[in-house]
Amino acid sequence: MELLLPRRCAACGDPGTVLCPACREAFRRPPERVFTGVDTHVPAFALGPYDERRRAVIVAMKERNNREVRKYLGAVLKAGVDTLRARGELPERMTLVPAPTRRANARLRGGDPVADCCRATGLPVVGALHHGRVRDSAGLDARSRRRNLAGGVGLSQVPAGPILLVDDVMTTGATIAASAEVLFSARAQVVAALTLAAA
Ligand SMILES: [Zn+2]
Repeated sequence: MELLLPRRCAACGDPGTVLCPACREAFRRPPERVFTGVDTHVPAFALGPYDERRRAVIVAMKERNNREVRKYLGAVLKAGVDTLRARGELPERMTLVPAPTRRANARLRGGDPVADCCRATGLPVVGALHHGRVRDSAGLDARSRRRNLAGGVGLSQVPAGPILLVDDVMTTGATIAASAEVLFSARAQVVAALTLAAA
């Protein structure tokens, strides 16, 4: 069918490619520090402002099974990580931990879009966080379990080594803060957060 139907940019609808050059252009900038009113506990970086084009690309990534856009954003994310490494703001080796998702949403979308982007970087990824109650909290101490319930963020495992939190959009920074708190309380080593855009 793909051969018969003209391709359209997933973000703006222009015919021709999966993502047109103008929409790709939206992500052509290095990550920048973001400061919100919320203490995120770790340095937070974004790949740019949540403008119209970035919003459209992020919406497209969330469409059910939109693998092409997720793959593209994975490459963008990897470039951001490489830039931060080159600037000495990230360690050489780290594990990406996607921000918590609701399992039902992930099912609807054919897999969690942010986790798919993370996997497309080729870097190690551990899906340790999710929303709601922890199904299996084995290995977590009492404090971590309390945190899980308090923040609405569940931790299913504790990744070893330095961790980079990844999310699509940073608004207040509350999700990053809650995720970092849950991980820190389980003695995980969160070093920074990186999002595709900052609102
Ligand atoms: Zn476009």
